[in-house]
Amino acid sequence: MSRLAIVSAMDQELRGLQAELPDAQCIKRAGREFWVGHLHGQEVVLVRSLIGKVAAATTAAVLLEHFQVGALIFTGVAGGLGQDVRIGDIVVADALLQHDMDASPIFPRFEVPLYGQSRFGTDALLSRRLEIACARVLADVAADRCAELSRAQLQGCGVAHAPRVHRGLIVSGDRFVSSAPEAAALRRDHADAQAVEMEGAALAQVCHDFNVPCAVMRTISDRADDTAHVDFNRFIEDVASRYTHAAVVAMLGAGRGGN
Ligand code: SAH
Repeated sequence: MSRLAIVSAMDQELRGLQAELPDAQCIKRAGREFWVGHLHGQEVVLVRSLIGKVAAATTAAVLLEHFQVGALIFTGVAGGLGQDVRIGDIVVADALLQHDMDASPIFPRFEVPLYGQSRFGTDALLSRRLEIACARVLADVAADRCAELSRAQLQGCGVAHAPRVHRGLIVSGDRFVSSAPEAAALRRDHADAQAVEMEGAALAQVCHDFNVPCAVMRTISDRADDTAHVDFNRFIEDVASRYTHAAVVAMLGAGRGGN
């Protein structure tokens, strides 16, 4: 695979991976630190995008123009919207949509003006590889053979069920969704939405413009309602960043010797 970008909104989400680059070189651009190096033989660029759609779009554009990456993976946390999407589960996006895009009545609500579409697809092959890697991590955690995260640790973070990987629509907007009515409105407007976050659809639109494959994985940290996790940083450190680390390593390991 050509140079792969791994992007997260927050620092803690990438920390595990960053520590594993034997040859990490930090290049500063547009107020961000781009960590270039090799991860299990794969040339990678790791970067924290910061939070929100504009921050994600800026980061993606710099990765594509300046670092010439051939594929992007976004990994982070999200609020669960799908009925059976629970805290501790993972959602891998098939498509992404900006739930706060509204140029109606000139354009249909949610449609990105002049693109003629509201949904931006992810790359099928990259997403499938990511999904398989995530499923393997969750199976390892369930069988207590994941080096990064024990079942007891997961339970300690309030995840008592056996977590699953879901595929489907992720919606993004510049708003932290933390009330039941708001979550219900998103479910009403996008019946197939599995999760809500603040960056993915922007990244997908930029990748669409550059015709470069992308994939998005999100660990569910909250249910986007009044109980939305307050201790974000702890959940990211104790669960999401460990999933990310194990899934990316599993994916790169499985891909070795491939393209
Ligand atoms: N409390 C954090 C800020 C979190 S902002 C801090 O102090 O740094 C929320 C981040 O998590 C965004 O990157 C977003 O993509 C994701 N996210 C998780 N749950 C979300 C929700 N319910 N609504 C919107 N974004 C959510």
